[in-house]
Amino acid sequence: MTDTDEYAHLDEQLRQREEALRQSEARYRALVQSQLDLICRFLPDSTLTFVNPAYATFYGTTPEAMIGRSFLEHCDPLTLEDVKSRIQIILDNPAPSHSEFPWTDSSGKIHWVQWVDQGILDEAGHVAEIQAVGRDITHLKTIENTLRLQEEWYRSLFEVNPKPLWVYDRETQMFLEVNKAAVEKYGYSRAEFLSMNITEIRPESEINRLNLVLEMDTEGFYHGRNWFHRAKNGIIFNVEISSHDIIFNGRDARLVLADDVTNQLAAERRLRESEEKFRTMLEAASEGVMLLDERGNITMVNLYIETLFGYDRSEMLDKSALFLVPDHMRRPLAAYQVAFAKRPMFTRIPESEGFVGRCKDGRLVPIEITLTPITIASQSMVMCLVIDLTQRKELEEGRIYAKSLEVKLEKERELIEMKERFISIVSHEFRTPLAVILSSVGILRRYHEILTPDKAAIKLDGIAAQVRRMVQLLEDVLTISRGNAERIQFRPEHLDLEEFCTGITETIRQTDADHHFILLEGVETIPSLYADRRLLEHILLNLMTNATKYSPVGTSVKLSVARIPHAVTFTVTDSGIGIPIADQSHLFEPFHRAQNVSGLEGTGLGLAIVKQSVEEHGGAITFTSVINQGSSFTVTLPI
Ligand code: ADP
Repeated sequence: MTDTDEYAHLDEQLRQREEALRQSEARYRALVQSQLDLICRFLPDSTLTFVNPAYATFYGTTPEAMIGRSFLEHCDPLTLEDVKSRIQIILDNPAPSHSEFPWTDSSGKIHWVQWVDQGILDEAGHVAEIQAVGRDITHLKTIENTLRLQEEWYRSLFEVNPKPLWVYDRETQMFLEVNKAAVEKYGYSRAEFLSMNITEIRPESEINRLNLVLEMDTEGFYHGRNWFHRAKNGIIFNVEISSHDIIFNGRDARLVLADDVTNQLAAERRLRESEEKFRTMLEAASEGVMLLDERGNITMVNLYIETLFGYDRSEMLDKSALFLVPDHMRRPLAAYQVAFAKRPMFTRIPESEGFVGRCKDGRLVPIEITLTPITIASQSMVMCLVIDLTQRKELEEGRIYAKSLEVKLEKERELIEMKERFISIVSHEFRTPLAVILSSVGILRRYHEILTPDKAAIKLDGIAAQVRRMVQLLEDVLTISRGNAERIQFRPEHLDLEEFCTGITETIRQTDADHHFILLEGVETIPSLYADRRLLEHILLNLMTNATKYSPVGTSVKLSVARIPHAVTFTVTDSGIGIPIADQSHLFEPFHRAQNVSGLEGTGLGLAIVKQSVEEHGGAITFTSVINQGSSFTVTLPI
């Protein structure tokens, strides 16, 4: 090879190397120019010697416009001092290092830029230039910020959560973190907690179960009831546990929520017991109880309803209550339901409506229905009470029948008693005069020749008197029996009362043979009375006779007549033996005589006749009496 060739060859090599260098430079330049990162070089005095298009674009200008100017011109005034001190750091130590600054772009938007700065040394080893490569990390910063906020949020959620929460290390079972509620509930301070093992908040009896669960593969989540925890003061409570496996500060940990449900369980138990109590009462109720919703569908029934209609409760639930009555009753029952829906109020469907229920076997039973509005869990419902009237009707009929038997029996008893009294009185009242008559007849027969006509006449009068007495008795008996059968004939007339009453007192005076003081008062004020003479005579004679008969000799018997509005009263007062309380309510019954009449003659018919006679006048008779002090009978006759 000639020298020329040699040089040509070297030239060629040089050219190729230059070409390779040029290409390489172009490649790097293209690479730098096309970078999205911000790249620049500047002198230690901050004069830019190079910027890539991304850098220039960031500030809304061109590389040419920037080169030769200080990059500090674009710096945020707030970060200016920090940037300057960064330059100094690189001048002191040119090795690549990071920094982050907020950087405002041409549109005024703030970006976070992460810079990698590095010093470029000259041959003497001094920093001749500084190269800075900046990456927009605004997006990352936002994420980081969000994460930080989230972390804070979760932490505060953890901390302020009203339920006790803690985190424990799954390997050592030591508490790693506890919240305020846990500190308050369990009574341990945070520091105490963090030195404790999770078994220490449990009673001894729970440890085995705890270990079993800890060994279980819970696939990251566990929920369990009926755990017992113990507070520092020894109180044990029932908790419901929820736990999640988490990584906490790089440790396998578990986040636990412990909810004290002791009170809730007690409340639930009380509710259950109360529910059971009411259910038992409901089931045992002697009435049918149905609960209907607003549409009239059955939502609940008791045993009585099941038994009454013969359906299982499952066959009745959700069905309209109307299916429990026969077709022809549906319309009237629905009408009641509609009226009730319009105005919900206690409604008892009267028995007279004749509602019947239709049982499963087709039987029809008379029922009574009552509708009551009630609210359950703020829902308006209808409580429908149903009573089977079959039994009640049977009972009612039985009762009526028994009552009628009782009345009959009572009448029968009274009749027998009356008969007995009648027989004993009549036989006594007849025997005495008959004995007198018999003895008088015997005397007359035996001694008629020696008897003076006067004496014979006395005997005959005596016989006649006794006969009159018997006739009177018969009259009385007849009056009573007639009075009961057909009414006594009532023939009223205008009576001169003064004359009438004077006549009565005179008669009494004669028959009493002046044993009593017979008084009459008040009659002069009432001139006349429209009354039946015979009956009024009966009344007053009977009362006056009784008054004299039942009072001691020497006492007075008074007849007072008085005028009151719309009536005249006749009051006969004596100071006699009085009437025992026990007899007072029977006094007007025929043949009834009080217990204290011993030895005094009588039939027990007089007052019965008096009462009848008074009632014929549309009047009334009353009396007051005190034993051994006297009696007072008052007859009131309307005018
Ligand atoms: P009686 O012929 O027995 O007098 P009454 O019917 O007139 O029959 O009277 C019924 C009974 O009432 C009497 O037997 C007597 O026990 C009692 N009674 C009636 N009037 C009086 C009176 N004024 N004082 C006390 N008892 C009387």
